[in-house]
Amino acid sequence: MRQRLSVEAYTKGVLSGDTIILSRAITLIESKLKNDKLLAKAVLENILPYTGKAMRVGITGVPGVGKSTFIEAFGKHITSLKKKVAVLTVDPSSKKTGGSILADKTRMEELSRDPLAFIRPSASGLSLGGVARSTRETMLLCEAAGYEVIIIETVGVGQSETLVKGMSDFFLLLMLAGAGDELQGIKKGIMEMADAVAINKADGANKISAELAVTEYQNALHLFPKSDSDFITKVVTCSALEGTGIASLWELITEYQQSTIQNGYFEKNRQAQNLEWMHNYIRQLLEGLFYENTIVKKAIVMSEKSVKEGNELPVPAAELLLDLFMKNLLK
Ligand code: GDP
Repeated sequence: MRQRLSVEAYTKGVLSGDTIILSRAITLIESKLKNDKLLAKAVLENILPYTGKAMRVGITGVPGVGKSTFIEAFGKHITSLKKKVAVLTVDPSSKKTGGSILADKTRMEELSRDPLAFIRPSASGLSLGGVARSTRETMLLCEAAGYEVIIIETVGVGQSETLVKGMSDFFLLLMLAGAGDELQGIKKGIMEMADAVAINKADGANKISAELAVTEYQNALHLFPKSDSDFITKVVTCSALEGTGIASLWELITEYQQSTIQNGYFEKNRQAQNLEWMHNYIRQLLEGLFYENTIVKKAIVMSEKSVKEGNELPVPAAELLLDLFMKNLLK
């Protein structure tokens, strides 16, 4: 294992925007080792006053919709405005398969060479909750390192969108024309979360159907209740490949940022996200305590057997285990 630095060295390196130290600080916060956790906590406490200033943009869409092509074009547009951009991923597949949907390909080649851009895939071997925690903390580190836009990418296939929505200021859903919602595996709930829907691949023969899809999605979105942000969800077209529609999407996001800062929603949303983060973490900690408790570990084997065989009902079995846990909490 590589040597760790001191708290001061991590703090100073991150605050000065040193990408090598930033990467090492991220590795530190992803670590499961007890000493690393203590070190990471101290670093995060030090950098906290320098966080929160970035625009956090969540991006989702099914595999093949063009996320990496889009982020490459979008990221390049942001750096052309002399803004620093960090790209993070929340990749739910990394634990189950050992591989990942988002990081397998050589992605965003050009952007990765851009000195104003920083790309970091999510850690492998963590649970979705673990990935969510490390991504949130990575985001804070990137903000402290001076990144003004944080893009958080995820695949639109499961729970991970909700997590990403819960850590972004603006949530962008990428879709395709003519593929049908069903086919695209996009659930209604995800459309409801979006602040903008971009129909990608609006180029060549696809252009007309993309325009038609805009009307279709706009009609569908009318049926949803208005968001607390008072911002009406926009449906636009873009071509990540040709670079069209990218600049106007960035303008839309800037507009959203300004109007939600003005009406107070921006801050209110961040506060609500922080509270949710705290409560989620409490739940994770409690669950960990319960399942790691040695007495519970033994008793749970018996309970599982008797519930499976129908000798005990699930609810009283759970309550008994919890009682046992409470009585043995400090043992
Ligand atoms: P991801 O799986 O969502 O990250 O999708 P990729 O960015 O890897 O893109 C999947 C395929 O769609 C690739 O072959 C891209 O070249 C292609 N693609 C992405 N964006 C566009 C676009 O705007 N227009 C066209 N025609 N093809 C695109």
